[in-house]
Amino acid sequence: MTLWELSEPVSRLRGVGGATARDLANLGIKAILDLLLFVPRTYEDRRTPASFGDALQHLTASDSARVNTRARVVDHSYIGGRSGKRTLKVQLIDGSGRNASLLCFGRNFLASKLPPGAEIRLFGHFQHRYGELQASGFEFEHVDAPGGAFDRILPVYPLSGSLTQGGVRRLTETALAHYGSHLVSTLPAPSRTEGWTTSAALHSLHFPEQVADAESARKALAFEEFLLLQLRIVREALIRRETTRSKTPLPVERRRTLARALPFSLTDDQERAVEEIHSDLESSQPMHRLLQGDVGSGKTLVALLSAVACIEGGYQVALMAPTELLARQHADNAARMLEPAGIRTAFLTGSLKRSMRTPLLAALAAGEVDLAVGTHALFTAEVTFRNLKLAIIDEQQRFGVLQRAALQAKGPETDLLITTATPIPRTLALGLFGDVDISTIRTMPPGRKPVVTHLARAGNEAKVYERVRAEIARGNRAYFVYPLIEEGVTEGIKNATAMRDMLAGEVFPEARIGLVHSRIPEEEKEATMAAFSRGDFDILVATSVVEVGVDVASATCMVIEHAERFGLSALHQLRGRVGRSHLQSYCFLLYSEELTDAGKERMRVMHRTNDGFEIAEEDLRIRGPGNVVGTRQSGFVRLHIADLAGDFALLQSARHAAERVLADDRGLLQPAHQPLRAALGAFSERVIEG
Ligand code: ADP
Ligand code: MG
Repeated sequence: MTLWELSEPVSRLRGVGGATARDLANLGIKAILDLLLFVPRTYEDRRTPASFGDALQHLTASDSARVNTRARVVDHSYIGGRSGKRTLKVQLIDGSGRNASLLCFGRNFLASKLPPGAEIRLFGHFQHRYGELQASGFEFEHVDAPGGAFDRILPVYPLSGSLTQGGVRRLTETALAHYGSHLVSTLPAPSRTEGWTTSAALHSLHFPEQVADAESARKALAFEEFLLLQLRIVREALIRRETTRSKTPLPVERRRTLARALPFSLTDDQERAVEEIHSDLESSQPMHRLLQGDVGSGKTLVALLSAVACIEGGYQVALMAPTELLARQHADNAARMLEPAGIRTAFLTGSLKRSMRTPLLAALAAGEVDLAVGTHALFTAEVTFRNLKLAIIDEQQRFGVLQRAALQAKGPETDLLITTATPIPRTLALGLFGDVDISTIRTMPPGRKPVVTHLARAGNEAKVYERVRAEIARGNRAYFVYPLIEEGVTEGIKNATAMRDMLAGEVFPEARIGLVHSRIPEEEKEATMAAFSRGDFDILVATSVVEVGVDVASATCMVIEHAERFGLSALHQLRGRVGRSHLQSYCFLLYSEELTDAGKERMRVMHRTNDGFEIAEEDLRIRGPGNVVGTRQSGFVRLHIADLAGDFALLQSARHAAERVLADDRGLLQPAHQPLRAALGAFSERVIEG
């Protein structure tokens, strides 16, 4: 078995019960594979000793010092004592002849494990307080215990909930022993990075012999992952390149009539994009095109106009959106714009009742629907089209890269148009989409005023709320966005549910306020969105569900609380919900005091520019390598260990490697490629479904 097939849940491991499984899931760890590829935040070298004496010398320069020593317990005492809560203090001496104390907050039970006279190995970060060396966070082992956590390099993981370093280390050690050590290497020997077998690389990722080995091993594994991604993408591209069809001239009459009927004229960039798409649609090779442009630049309109030409030619079109909310909005817009011209539209989502779905599927198969708008439900095997020509995937960044293949499979020569508001540098686009043509809309429709962005520190909400009140008094609308749906595990973070009540009860008693988030039933969510865009609500309180594509022209305020908890591209998308008409709009970013450096940078970038291209570049730069958990999920594709920004060079070499492999073994049928083939199958499944 290869690494990539280890999809068994972590709960298979001894010691992983419900609570631990939940904590691990918060870190993105569900399968054994996730655990094996869980990248340590850093490593702790416990081979070099540091005595109490060394620590004291160090402490003249900094406020805490590392200790890694052998010590003897001298005595116990107790500190505190108010309200009966006493804390054990264990006094020690080590070979340097110096003393130190361990403060055992909440761990008085250690008294019996550390009796006077006990000889231990000790690791911890010590401070100089009350005239002595003290530590409250420490690890120890009895010197005669079978060795474990000393004299070696140890991984330090990101943690969550009640996980401990020791606990996670035991889990990775167990997983390595039971699953990681007898893996079939994914790559044949000549293709391995610096000779790493998969098993050796996994072992060194967690427990390296030398610190430098860990990064080399991580790169080898990241290369494996990129190679799988590239094999999938390059193979699709090869098949596409070989697919030819007869040229299909398409009529343009209806499209032109509809465009003329719009209350505005298309921008030059939109005109050009429509033409580029049209000539792809007529050509003898299926289209594979990315339409990129900032939020509100008019991409969806371009996509719909392109659909009209196909429909007039007698074909069907599918438009897929990332959320039900957005799909519903597109369906409504499409119906309003296209049905008067005799175009038959339909809306399909996973929540559609069977009694409705059956006749709809029959109509699609019979060619009685011209344009199907929906969510990923459009992909499922039960959906068949009579003659699907064009598949439009709106706002690609929300989909797994490979999902589009499933939709394309609905018609062998299907043209594919992907729209995205996240500008993707060309080189990266190649790595993510294979061969792809790009149309770019750079200019916004005329008359738009750039959104004015204000930063405010938490505590200054009142001022922001007053600005919003003034806008509402003028008949405009506002969004309030929060990072959580309800009271969560993280204390002190505002949530949408409670804030809706607070805003309605205390701040804006005069306003009508709606609430949307992902746990509200779909019908209710849609009704609320519709009411907000009609003007029946003044304020919409939400989570990031409003992030993508939602279009309410009279919304002029976007208030984001705990803005530091959102990534740059999410902030930019959210801000794009306002400023969609001639009205001056505002974005208020409320951030907490404890900003990380990256958090500060994000706020600064948002304040400085409205340009989505610039923001995308800053995003890549700020996140860079050495990512924290979660950002590996770049929004384009969910990778386990490779990082699109930090490992960009690896992505390119993986692409070349994939081209070489496929050039002489398209089906990966050679015996040496057998593990690769198995891994690719499992990997594709994970990425497509995950
Ligand atoms: P995107 O998909 O790029 O976010 P949309 O296609 O949803 O943008 O367009 C955003 C809004 O701008 C819509 O209300 C749309 O009708 C309007 N719009 C599109 N093109 C133009 C244009 N050329 N002039 C004025 N308004 C436009
Ligand atoms: Mg759009």
